[in-house]
Amino acid sequence: MPDPKPARGSPRSLSGLLPFMRPYRARFALAVLFLGLAAATTLLFPVALRGLIDGGLAASADAKGEKLMALRTHFLELFAVAVALGVSSALRFYMVTWLGERVTADLRNAVYAHVLRQSPQFFETTQTGEVLSRLTTDTTLVQSVVGSQLSLGLRNTVLGLGAIGMLVWTNPYIMLQVLLIIVVVVLPSMAFGRRVRRLSRASQDRLADSSAIAAEVLNAIPVVQGYTAEGREASRFDDATERTFQTGVRRTRARAVLVAFIIIATAALLLWGLYQGTQAVMAGRISAGHLGETIVYVIILAGAVAVLGEVYGDVLRAAGATERLMELLDSRSPVQGPARPVALPAPARGSTVSFEHIRFHYPSRPGQPALEDFNLTVTAGETVALVGPSGAGKSTVFQLLLRFYDPQSGRVLLDGVPLADAALEDLRNRVGIVPQEAVVFSSSAMENIRYGRPDASDEEVREAARAAFAHEFIEALPEGYATFLGERGVRLSGGQRQRIAIARAMLKNPPLLLLDEATSALDAESERMVQAALTRAMQDRTTLVIAHRLATVQQADRIVVLDHGRIVEQGTHEQLVAANGMYARLAALQFMA
Ligand code: ATP
Repeated sequence: MPDPKPARGSPRSLSGLLPFMRPYRARFALAVLFLGLAAATTLLFPVALRGLIDGGLAASADAKGEKLMALRTHFLELFAVAVALGVSSALRFYMVTWLGERVTADLRNAVYAHVLRQSPQFFETTQTGEVLSRLTTDTTLVQSVVGSQLSLGLRNTVLGLGAIGMLVWTNPYIMLQVLLIIVVVVLPSMAFGRRVRRLSRASQDRLADSSAIAAEVLNAIPVVQGYTAEGREASRFDDATERTFQTGVRRTRARAVLVAFIIIATAALLLWGLYQGTQAVMAGRISAGHLGETIVYVIILAGAVAVLGEVYGDVLRAAGATERLMELLDSRSPVQGPARPVALPAPARGSTVSFEHIRFHYPSRPGQPALEDFNLTVTAGETVALVGPSGAGKSTVFQLLLRFYDPQSGRVLLDGVPLADAALEDLRNRVGIVPQEAVVFSSSAMENIRYGRPDASDEEVREAARAAFAHEFIEALPEGYATFLGERGVRLSGGQRQRIAIARAMLKNPPLLLLDEATSALDAESERMVQAALTRAMQDRTTLVIAHRLATVQQADRIVVLDHGRIVEQGTHEQLVAANGMYARLAALQFMA
């Protein structure tokens, strides 16, 4: 997918993470406290060192014993500083890593929950693999920043500033050089960093591309192997990985140059300062201990600047990732429940459905209406069969009824309430759907059926399975209802999967049932079972069924014939056959075969 938006600003994108850090303010404050303590103790080292050199080593103590005592005290001081440094560093490390893990986990959950609520329109343009890549690799980058780079950066900022402060205090004339470092090193690095960030984002996008390809292909393995397309698919993935690699290399090249520049420029300036320091000792203007102290501060400062350069690169990388995550979190589903929903009338048994003057086209096909001047009322308890040639708009009727899309004009009512005025959850709780392609999750048969009503008891699940003629074959599975189905378990036949799906819908027991009859041919026995299950499911409730079988249309109270998004005929099977119109032709082709 091409970059949808031009690269913006800078590490400022990271501010999107603030809402995720806010709940952990106290922890964050603690982390900063330990960080400050660790930095302060590091900055005390050179002072202790100066004391050691000037007071313990260089000073010409009269008695040997006194000198020894002075040395011991100085070493004890140094050790005390080291202990303080060790303890505060450990606490800082723990706090910061904890924050990183926590914030990433929250972010991952928020993105996933958000994606689950998107309308089908979102999934038409965003591939599953891409979402997965964002959930894993992008959040991992964020974790590296919040969980380590941020602390590394803060620590080195404090250290660097501290070292500058101490240098200015102990050795004011070095101040000028420090200012020079800032101007010569930091400013160009910032400008260069922008390029690194843009490339980082591109590199994450390319990675998402290859994930998208892999996810799609792995889901279609039988087709891929059936067409012996393994080689082709592998090279398609190869190409995507290669592009990821190339972008990664460009990013790394830019970063490598950035690092080299920072290190060389800093070192040159600092060596220059050091040179002047040695001149000062030789001229007797400062002591050896003073120079030693200055050297350590200079090393701390140089180290801090170098680390900050690296950290800056990583922070920019994470800024790219955060930007992508925030984009995902900002995407609003075009189908939203109303702020103040109207309650659907209760009790709900037997819902009436009306479509009033519907005109609808899919968002990606503005020129081609899928439903046009569509009017249909289904009364409570009625079974209506939708028939029509492929592409006539039958499935679209279901999509609108579940409010996966909103029509451009006209409205759909359920029990007299316009769908747009009802809470999405309320609406979907009243509708049961049996899709053409039955979905079986990788869990037990029991859990697969219970998906229809999570609080149903085992007995209720068995009851639904019996009603859908699924009980017998489930009992015959190796572990009965506990048998694992789906991806990692037992594969079911087409008819068995359908009966599981019907059992699931019957357990939900919705007042309105949407059945999309499978077109795939089943063997006679399986067909009879599925038909019997469907007949049960249609009893005592309002049912809309996309029918492909004669037995189904004959059971319907009314048949509605669709063509090019319009209703062209309606009536019973006998009436429509007698009318000798489109239905009669379709029936001759489809049912009588
Ligand atoms: P079939 O019996 O083959 O399933 P159908 O009668 O159910 O066909 P619909 O799926 O409702 O037909 O499709 C109606 C029209 O809308 C078709 O022209 C189809 O290409 C188009 N269409 C369906 N889904 C989408 C979509 N998500 N985006 C764009 N166009 C779509």
